[in-house]
Order: sequence, then C-alpha cells, then structure tokens
Amino acid sequence: MQRIEHVLPWGCLGTERKLTVFRFGSGPCKAYIQASLHADELPGMRVAVELKQRLRALELQGRLSGVIELVPVANPIGLGQMLQAAPQGRFEFASGKNFNRDFVDLAEQVAPRIATQLSQDGPANVQLIRAAMHAVLDDLPAPTAELQGLQRLLLRHACDADVVLDLHCDFEAVPHLYSIPQHWPQWRSLAARVKAGAALLAQDSGGSSFDEACSGAWWRLAQRFADYPIPLACMATALELGGMADTDKAAAEAGAEAILAFLAEQGLIAGDWSAAPDACCEATPFAGAEYVYAPHSGVVSFLQPLGAQVAVGDPLFEVFDPLDDRHSVVCAQTAGVLYARERLRFAQPGLWLVKVAGAQVLRQGRLLSD
Ligand SMILES: [Zn+2]
Repeated sequence: MQRIEHVLPWGCLGTERKLTVFRFGSGPCKAYIQASLHADELPGMRVAVELKQRLRALELQGRLSGVIELVPVANPIGLGQMLQAAPQGRFEFASGKNFNRDFVDLAEQVAPRIATQLSQDGPANVQLIRAAMHAVLDDLPAPTAELQGLQRLLLRHACDADVVLDLHCDFEAVPHLYSIPQHWPQWRSLAARVKAGAALLAQDSGGSSFDEACSGAWWRLAQRFADYPIPLACMATALELGGMADTDKAAAEAGAEAILAFLAEQGLIAGDWSAAPDACCEATPFAGAEYVYAPHSGVVSFLQPLGAQVAVGDPLFEVFDPLDDRHSVVCAQTAGVLYARERLRFAQPGLWLVKVAGAQVLRQGRLLSD
C-alpha cells in the first residue's frame, strides 16, 4: 500500500489541509474509489475503512491484478465545517458552492490536443486520451481557491481509471446509484450486490458532478470524433449507500464485500468471489425521478416506508400547520420506488421531502438539485 499525500493550495496562514490517496496493487486496469465528497455523508467513509483493511490483505496475498486507489476522505475542507455543532459538508462555507458540482469539462479541453492524433486503434486512442487528460489538468492555470485545487486532484486521480466509484448517501434512503445509460448493463451487477432500490440513468444531469466529469468526457469525445473508435473507457457511478445514519458495521462490511466482488468481476482482483444475485431493481431515467414538495410549511408525517413501491395517487406524507389548522396529504404523481426521504420532519420552502423513481419522464434540463 502506497500512501500519497497532496497539500491543498490556499490553506489559511498557519494551517494546511491534505488529500490522502491509498494506492494498492499494480497492473493495466485501474479502479478509483472515493468517499464522502459531501463530507457529512459518512456511510462511504465507513465502507472505505473496511475496503482499506481488505485491500491491504489482498495486496499481501498477491491477488490484486490491477491498481485500486482509495480516497476515504475526499473532502477535508467540508469535513471541518461545523455550524453550531451541526456538520455542514455539502456546500463550501467560503464560496457557497456544492462540493460535487462544476468539475472541469475534460472533453472540451482534450479535444484540440487529440484531434490530429486519433487513429483507428481503439486502445491506442484510450491511452492518447488519458495522457491528454493528465496534460490538460497539469496545464491549467494555478487553482485560485482551495476547493478548485481539491477538485482537480480528485479528478486527476480518477480520470485514467476504468472504474470510478464515488460513494455518497442521501438523507434517508435505500441504496441507489447514478450512471450514464450506456454503462447500466455493467453496473447491474453492483446494483444487485448492494441491493439497490433504484438506478437512475442520465446522459447529462447538468452540474458537472464528479462521476459525470469522469464518464462524460468519453461519450462527448466519441460523439465529437465519430470517425474514430473511442470506447466509453471510464465507467463512473455515484453510489448512494443508503442514508446519512447508515454507518453500522454490518452494512459497511457488506458494502465493502459487494464492491470488492464487483471489482473482481471487472478483472481487478483474483480469486473466488460470489456471483451477483439475480434479483435487481430496474433502471429508470433520472428524469423520471419525482422530487415531491410540501404545499405549505408545517410538521411532516411520512406515510410510506423507504423502498415502498407506490402508485399514482398513493399518499406519501402529511403536512400539518398547527397555527391555522391547514392539513395536506401529498400524493405520488408517478408510479415507482420511494427511494429517499428528507431527514427533518419539517416542510420548508424549496426543499423536497420524498423522491420517487418512476419510469415516466417528468423533468427536463438540469436534473440535479443542489
Ligand atoms: Zn452526496
């Protein structure tokens, strides 16, 4: 195991933060796993503890047939942010920016560097593009903020990987994942292994999140240079490991085992691993995910458990206003799986309370909320 440490730029005088990457194994394939980019989403960090132990052992046994990089604390900036005793890991205090938005669009900057060098050799194109990605990131002007420096380091480690897992969680949720549609057939096994309740597919969710910055560069380049074979060489997913409180030992162990078995299936780890279960959720368009809001302020009672299969018109939650006696029952507008709920039981303007993954497309444009 190699421990790689990067000092983040723009630390305040007298302080500095570090990004730490653990690198295991060797070989032509690479997987990159990071946890808790939204710093208060801790199930991923807990799973990373289990992964680190197991990867160390696998490396000593000589069973790693590829490189696996693990970043258990992807966001040391957010992890230090507390407001009146409550962790605040989603938005950077300094800029107000969501830590998982606005990653560099690699395709745009790689394109002019490779235009005259592409060939009819697909694997050679992959090597060429990965080298160009590194060159693009190296040649960017110096970061002007700590967050920008952090994002570039994460992307630099991930952009040449074949498999990228960005471990997140929702407030309260069943496990679910996000991916581009082209890679769903491969992700299906991971979804089955983690017992995902939903898989949300989008070509471009808007917002340039980390997983889409990794996978998106390839389909964009393939589209732009349609005369050349450019495979979608980076499978990337945002894997939501349930809800924020889901850091139990048993769940973390199961999550780590599921991820390792999946990586073995991808050719990164040797040995006998269990096959993926047959049962798996159906993938649905991310544009079919209904974000359900309350019609007014008030205290909330949920009427459906996580993972419930709901029909159009099924009641999802009630909102009570104890001052003016308003009472609303909010119902599903789409049929699908209730995969996430708000943690707080108070309805506030602009904040969703329930998410339902349906097959019907309901939304357009930018699909990611902030
Ligand atoms: Zn997140």
